[in-house]
Amino acid sequence: MATLMEVFVTQPSASQTAMWNVIVVFTCCLGDWLCQAVSGRDLLWRALADSGTHGAVGAVSWAVVVLPGRSVAEWTQCLLCGLAASLIDLDHFVQAGSLQLKDAVTLQQRPPFHSTTLVLLVTGVLWVVSLVMHVTQLRKVALLCCVAWLTHHLRDASRRGLWFPPLGSSPPLPYAVYVVSTVAVAVAARCVYVWCVAVPSVHTAVSDPKSLSAVLVQ
Ligand SMILES: [Zn+2]
Repeated sequence: MATLMEVFVTQPSASQTAMWNVIVVFTCCLGDWLCQAVSGRDLLWRALADSGTHGAVGAVSWAVVVLPGRSVAEWTQCLLCGLAASLIDLDHFVQAGSLQLKDAVTLQQRPPFHSTTLVLLVTGVLWVVSLVMHVTQLRKVALLCCVAWLTHHLRDASRRGLWFPPLGSSPPLPYAVYVVSTVAVAVAARCVYVWCVAVPSVHTAVSDPKSLSAVLVQ
């Protein structure tokens, strides 16, 4: 029986995965360059650049997972992942109890959706519920939320570290570690997606090379 690695490196998914991984690295670097470029401008511009970068990194990370082709649904999922990655920062406003941008960015404590413990808990609970209720789509939602959330946290972690309440926070991640970790999260999510979410038929397809290629080009 073929291994997951054999599924993963089979064309065309291997070349597409490599391409999207390069796009993830490029997006991380370009987004942060853009944030640097607007660092002297007013708060709204800086917030838009930061939020846009979170969204773009989330969207292309999900593209590593689904390798969007002609399916509108897959591109829509990428947009949703990007949107979710951007919207996580809304908890700054909730924690501040204010809609003012200056209040949202001057918090004394990190807001709740920036807890990486919470990401792992929510993903785990959704995953277990999907298994118990036999709802494959819920596994996809769990994976998408996890990718959106973790890529956001990793980017923030290059400035403030990862936050694991009640244990505490890690030191800020070196920039290269953030970029490599973001790619690693996307590739790991791709493996989980192929094996547990995409189509249960993959499990049967790996023992049948003809149907395997049909599955991989879906
Ligand atoms: Zn954030």
